[in-house]
Amino acid sequence: MRKVRGPILDQLYARLKRCGDLSCTGRPFTEHRNVPVLVLNPRDRRPAWQQVTETLSEAIRSGSLAPGDELPSITELSALQDIGTGVIRRAFETLTADGLILARRGQSPIVAGTAAPVLPGTRKRAGPGHDCRRAGCRPHVCHPMKASTIRGIHSILSGAFAAAQRWEWTDRNPTRSAKPPTAIRRPIPATSPDDVAKVIAEARGRSAALGLYLWLVVVTGVRRGELCGLQIRDVDLDRGLIHIAFNYVVRGGQRVRKDTKTHQDRWLAIDPDTCTLIAAHLDEIRTELATVGVELRDDAYLFSNEPAHSGPWNPDWATHKVAEAAAAAGVKLDIKGGRHYTASQLLAGGFDLCNTAARLGPSGGGATTLRHYADPVPEVDRRAAAYLARLTAGPTSQD
Ligand SMILES: [Zn+2]
Ligand SMILES: [Zn+2]
Repeated sequence: MRKVRGPILDQLYARLKRCGDLSCTGRPFTEHRNVPVLVLNPRDRRPAWQQVTETLSEAIRSGSLAPGDELPSITELSALQDIGTGVIRRAFETLTADGLILARRGQSPIVAGTAAPVLPGTRKRAGPGHDCRRAGCRPHVCHPMKASTIRGIHSILSGAFAAAQRWEWTDRNPTRSAKPPTAIRRPIPATSPDDVAKVIAEARGRSAALGLYLWLVVVTGVRRGELCGLQIRDVDLDRGLIHIAFNYVVRGGQRVRKDTKTHQDRWLAIDPDTCTLIAAHLDEIRTELATVGVELRDDAYLFSNEPAHSGPWNPDWATHKVAEAAAAAGVKLDIKGGRHYTASQLLAGGFDLCNTAARLGPSGGGATTLRHYADPVPEVDRRAAAYLARLTAGPTSQD
């Protein structure tokens, strides 16, 4: 461990980027498979499957087929060695029962046991009597490892080395100076206003609440859990504001109401149309509760499946419902995509990045200071709210 230094990790990452096979040097080579030649002796009194089983188990016991080696599939081996599939299947079943090979669902079996670690630059050699054609050997094709996978490896190593350093097994953490490949994020094409409107219409058809939920996702850009956590007291329809104070998350089956992701509660402007939609939603809930003589409490949730709206929607459930509506509308959109829509449309509409960021609520937006203003949202956020509502409502809008 002490010998691992930054440059070694850099080299490893560079290698993985070229080919994920550690035995590969970049030059062409044959990937040998040490499958023995299976010969059926007609004078042998043992049945064919037993002869095949014997040959294979001998190869495994002698180590020429090593733990972790992948065997060809039944059909592949049958074709390579010109032996019936029934014979191969019976042989595989026997070897599996004997614990020599491991059957894998939907995949070809592998030799049981712990595979030896692959050392860079070392490759499986073909043994004596090896027949590439019958073993099914193939020319190696390089499989570059994805940058994101290498970054995953880097983060595992970073954690391991950090622990080693904490326990004083090593005094340096080489992952500090190593440079994993940077992940190139492909920009996701933003959904068009027309498509978003289609999904909202579909959602509305399923339930007015779901339609409003999705509408709020795109015109406010809040996270799904933040919207689930919205309570009656967080909505100020007179001033056209909503207060994003909590994020609702489900962790290990437990519903947790926690501070917003960024620990910054924020006020968002909502346009008059959105206020009307929310007011209609609240009226509907109040009317429904009135029939059973219950009042809508201040700490009740805007979106709830419970009688008195005492508990919020499960964010996963909301995601699922939105996905259903999007699929029915034939549009690729999820709640994250809705936030993406909000951001990209605001920027495309000429709203500045700072305001857009404050609306979406990422860290360091300075949104907390907004609370100290008489009107907690700047004029530009008012315009943003109106702009998004108009854009999303499209030509079918009332005005
Ligand atoms: Zn070979
Ligand atoms: Zn390769």
